[in-house]
Amino acid sequence: MLNYCQQNIRIILPCEPFKLCKDEIDGDDLHLYFEPSGEASPCPTCGDKTTNHKWRKIELDAPRTGLHKKTVWHVDYRVLRCSNCDCFSTEEIPFRFGGSHVTTDLAKEICSRLENQNGTVKSVADDFGLSWYKVKNVHKEYLKQLKDLAPEPEAPEICSVDEFAVEKNHRYATLVIDTINKLPLYLHQGNAAKDFRPFFSEFSTKFYRKIKAFSMDQNASYSSVVRECLPKCKIVCDYFHMMKNYTDEVLDKVRGRAYRSFRLEGNHEAAERLKHAKRLLNKRFPDEITKEEDWEAKALLQTMMDDSHELDVCIHMREMLQDLYDNCRDRDRMKEGWSTWCRMAKESRIPELMRYAKNKVLKTEEILNHADFPITSGVIEGCMNKIKVLKRVAFGFRDFDYFFMRIWQAFLPSELNRNLSNMVWGKYQCY
Ligand SMILES: [Zn+2]
Repeated sequence: MLNYCQQNIRIILPCEPFKLCKDEIDGDDLHLYFEPSGEASPCPTCGDKTTNHKWRKIELDAPRTGLHKKTVWHVDYRVLRCSNCDCFSTEEIPFRFGGSHVTTDLAKEICSRLENQNGTVKSVADDFGLSWYKVKNVHKEYLKQLKDLAPEPEAPEICSVDEFAVEKNHRYATLVIDTINKLPLYLHQGNAAKDFRPFFSEFSTKFYRKIKAFSMDQNASYSSVVRECLPKCKIVCDYFHMMKNYTDEVLDKVRGRAYRSFRLEGNHEAAERLKHAKRLLNKRFPDEITKEEDWEAKALLQTMMDDSHELDVCIHMREMLQDLYDNCRDRDRMKEGWSTWCRMAKESRIPELMRYAKNKVLKTEEILNHADFPITSGVIEGCMNKIKVLKRVAFGFRDFDYFFMRIWQAFLPSELNRNLSNMVWGKYQCY
């Protein structure tokens, strides 16, 4: 058994212009006390001599030293008064990270654990023996400084606007991205017109002049804001939402209806097949199937389509629509294809499909715009998936600003993120 015994060693600490005046051990924690080492600095306004007006104290968590669980720096600092102009100034603490209650060294460790090692706020807080709020606020402070240093984004040609649920369908947020460069441009709480409108005054006028098209869901409040703020801009119904609506409003409902009627008929085998087929019905198979599991899935899908004529029609109609969106880059051909599609939907006599076509006919202009501004579905889908992952990591927190800044950072190109990060930490290197 080894016994520990207390020693005094001279160690180097990044505490300029303060000096260590006392150390104390309390249980598992090490407490270090600091006081100013030099003369009071001159008045920042007139440069004259200052006198000591008042003492203040602050506690900062610092990186662990030796075997102690926690290290706390207690810093005494001065409020100074100018003997000439009477103004007050507060002594700077250069090793304090922004407005937080940790030293810059510890802040850097916290941020690195959160970002490079994919730690959650909770796991990092536990590891450092800090509260959840402290860790979150340190990272928030860091992201704020990062964002302040970021350059204004380049003017985009095509934008996408979309809403996403922040808290299990209760609260929504609005996200605008530069579709070509996959950069988030704007995030705002809420999904009403008033939550989207401020986007159009966020940047310079020049910025908006370049936007030729805005892709979106059929959300009427978003499109009315674009029409109002950028009258010449084309609105595009994007693939992602067309298909999402098709799944929700047509396929899912027809599947539910078919399932119930199979049950009534006593065809339990067919009903059972449909019960868990939601994902399979939405699956897009590659043109040439090579994987064994894809063959099996396709065969199962074919059986379901043989069982239900309506499902068969709906899947074929979806494939037609996908083909139009994927391959049609000519407005006239798109127009022809779209009107054929609508006629076929009407003639299908399937109520869900007819209703879908009836709603979408009102959006014909926006659908045809897709031929001029083909926006790959992957961009919006990719963004939404990234946000979902972040939501999971950040599970449980209600701080919108922090959540949004994390989204903003997640979409930053990694090189820019690195450069900005070096700038933030570089600011503190001077001490
Ligand atoms: Zn002065």
